[in-house]
Formats: sequence, structure tokens, C-alpha cells
Amino acid sequence: MLKYIKDIITGAITLLEGMAITFKYMFQKPITLQYPEQKAQMTTRFRGRLVMPVDEEKGDNRCTACNICVKACPNYSIAVERLTDETGKPKPKAASFTYNMGTCMFCNLCVEVCPFSAIVMSEEYELAVYDRKSLIKDLVAEKYKLKGRKGKWWISKFKDEEQV
Ligand code: SF4
Ligand code: SF4
Repeated sequence: MLKYIKDIITGAITLLEGMAITFKYMFQKPITLQYPEQKAQMTTRFRGRLVMPVDEEKGDNRCTACNICVKACPNYSIAVERLTDETGKPKPKAASFTYNMGTCMFCNLCVEVCPFSAIVMSEEYELAVYDRKSLIKDLVAEKYKLKGRKGKWWISKFKDEEQV
């Protein structure tokens, strides 16, 4: 009988302890997000999918079609085609920049080797698609506008280099 009463008291105490913890956290600001309604703000170093932003000052992207990123990519995920003039002479400008997100491993090597800061890994992380073709993008045609914190960070990257 005594054991029975002891068990009831222990059970009640345990229950109260649990409730105390529940109440303690009930009135605190939650650290979790209600995804997908709420989206996390990524850090500037976050590696989302590759983009080629438009430099607002130039009114165009910064790519010179030098192909360094193509050579650096371990997965052959990039193909760059150069623009040519009427005589067929190549111009320092990309006609197209084909990026295959399906084979990209988000290593950032292409971004690091680009001498013109023309490409950057964006904050985009919702990358699921229904067909493989949608994983292949022409970044020149996309005319991506990199905004917010990441946009400012990207501009400061090449502005600092230009001032050196
Ligand atoms: S992030 Fe890496 S794998 Fe993806 S395109 Fe750039 S170099 Fe290639
Ligand atoms: S993105 Fe950079 S490294 Fe790649 S082709 Fe353009 S300028 Fe060259």
C-alpha cells in the first residue's frame, strides 16, 4: 500500500516537472521556423545554386567568357560560349553560360577562380524540380538580380578588388 502511494506521488511530481518545462518554453521566442511559410535567411557564405548576377552599374553581367571556371569545375557542370562580332572574331563576352545544377556539387571552385567575380552561389536552396531539363540553366539569359544582404556582399567583393 505504501509503495502504491509512493508511486502516485512520484508520478505526480514527474508530471509537474514535465509541465514546468513545457510552460517555461511556451512563453519564449521560438527558435524554429514554420517552413515553408517562413523561410530562413541564409548567410552570405551560404552556397545555394550558381547565378550570374547583373551588375547594375554596367547594366550587364561581368563575365568575359575567359573559361577559367569551366576548367576549374571538377564535374564539368559549366559550358561557356563566346560572343563573336560580324567577322567571327571572338569578343570578351559570354553568349551563353550553361550551368548544370544536376551535376554541380556546390563546391564553389568556379566562384573562387573567377577573376571578375562574375558568378556567385546564391541564397536559393529550394532547388527540387520535376524534370532533369529544368536543372540546366543559361545564366546569361537568366539576367539574375542578386538582392539583399548577399547582393551587397557580392558588390563589395569586386568593388574592393577594383580599388586595389
Ligand atoms: S560549384 Fe563546383 S561543381 Fe558546381 S559548377 Fe562550380 S565548380 Fe562546378
Ligand atoms: S564566369 Fe568568370 S571565370 Fe567563368 S568564364 Fe565568366 S569571367 Fe571567366
